[in-house]
Amino acid sequence: MRIITSIEEMEREVAQHREAKSSIGFVPTMGYLHEGHLTLIHTARKENDIVIASIFVNPLQFGPNEDFDSYPRDFERDEQLARNNGVDILFYPNVNDMYKPDFSFQIKVIDKVDVLCGKKREGHFDGVATVLIKLFNITRPNRVYFGMKDAQQVAIVTSVIEDFNFPIELVPVSTVREEDGLAKSSRNVYLTEQERQEAPNLYYGLKMARSLIEDGERNPNIIRNKVIEHIANHTSGEIDYVEVLSYPELKEQKEVFGKIIIAVAVKFTKARLIDNITFVV
Ligand code: AMP
Repeated sequence: MRIITSIEEMEREVAQHREAKSSIGFVPTMGYLHEGHLTLIHTARKENDIVIASIFVNPLQFGPNEDFDSYPRDFERDEQLARNNGVDILFYPNVNDMYKPDFSFQIKVIDKVDVLCGKKREGHFDGVATVLIKLFNITRPNRVYFGMKDAQQVAIVTSVIEDFNFPIELVPVSTVREEDGLAKSSRNVYLTEQERQEAPNLYYGLKMARSLIEDGERNPNIIRNKVIEHIANHTSGEIDYVEVLSYPELKEQKEVFGKIIIAVAVKFTKARLIDNITFVV
């Protein structure tokens, strides 16, 4: 596995693989790798000649009161995991190279951001889109791999690829969970013991909502309120949102139908957790 920190070196490396007609699969991450990330890497490994993973905690996607400084980081551990799981090139750029002082642009996402994390984390997806446009240009992948744990991100990156004409296929990968159902996340290390016990209730609330729909409930408000009630009764966290929307359009519906997402965000003492399920009604 090669570790590359320089953008220019990365571009040279990629040019060689493109010339050799090797297919490139790219897995962008913020590091502190867990099985969720590794599943993206394994999927990319199966489908491409070359697998590039990046580790970059992107300051642009964190709000002023968010956890950029305390976001967990452990490059040596990540390096081992990447190496042992089939990454060919680990791209680890530094912030000052990615965002030069004279960086002249602001990308603003205007669709699918007035709901869920887009509504609660102003500018978050602008930062995500900006870094991905850069990373896609630097790594020139044939396929990119994103986790459905961040389903709004998948919806928005699909638009980035379409709207900016990237010749890239986006491959969504199902959420990887702990045995008790908690979605794996780098931020789970910041849960207290008690919060860790409570946290699977985000998923249980989502599954309960799905059962309600399977039993015939179609009113999004009733479904939403049941999820809120479940999470409020079973966790000490503060609910940031619970939403029931069409997917991937992310629009409200009067009655749920077609492909939908039920998504939650809950703030615990030191970690804000998100989870969702998508399915066809
Ligand atoms: P992050 O490092 O949190 O930015 O995540 C990098 C990629 O891994 C994103 O595409 C995430 O959606 C994906 N990811 C994070 N957690 C999981 C998980 N539990 N299951 C599947 N994919 C995940």
